[in-house]
Amino acid sequence: MSRLRVHPENHFVGRIGWLRAAVLGANDGIISTASLIVGVAAAAAAQNDVLIAGVAGLVAGAMSMAAGEYVSVSSQSDTERGDLARERQELSDDPAFERDELTQIYVTRGVDQALARQVAEQLMAKDALTAHARDELGISEITTARPVQAALTSAVTFSAGAAMPLLMVIVSPAGLLVPIVSAASLGFLALLGAIGAKTGGSNILRATARVTFWGALAMALTAGIGKLFGTVV
Ligand SMILES: [Zn+2]
Repeated sequence: MSRLRVHPENHFVGRIGWLRAAVLGANDGIISTASLIVGVAAAAAAQNDVLIAGVAGLVAGAMSMAAGEYVSVSSQSDTERGDLARERQELSDDPAFERDELTQIYVTRGVDQALARQVAEQLMAKDALTAHARDELGISEITTARPVQAALTSAVTFSAGAAMPLLMVIVSPAGLLVPIVSAASLGFLALLGAIGAKTGGSNILRATARVTFWGALAMALTAGIGKLFGTVV
């Protein structure tokens, strides 16, 4: 995640890793659960059935997020480990070739030949593997990916997001379930978008508009499908 180190002043890149994961998890939870609820409710299901569908959606979504995140983080870290092992082997087999390779990378970036060679030599004298990992493989920190932690974080943030529309089902009067769940969920999405943008230092209005647009689209689609099937079946 932290491909770039944070400058102490005013860059937000370092914060974006966990924040992005948390906001994305909660967004997913709100959008998928609210859409599910709105779809089932639009098919004129009883409030209790809507609630059951919503809870099942929460559990299914949280598990699928956890599994997806676990697999993605594990395979990312496997790939990085494999790349590093190969690089370590190459460095011990043919250090001269590796030095030329690193030199060439700096030359391509605009450093002149003699200086590039000097930089490559000095970096490799200090820590050859780190120098190659960073500039050849694009791995800036020897990997600290934790798949279980990532899986748990996704499941928890998804569930927290999903709990919001579910709570609305419980407190809404039966006849107003669809409008209340939709409006409240769009409100939650907008709020999350704003928090995410503020913490990440990006444009609040744009982030909010983006997420509410997709949320509204998802709910409109499932409401339409629910209505269609509700009248046909
Ligand atoms: Zn190399």
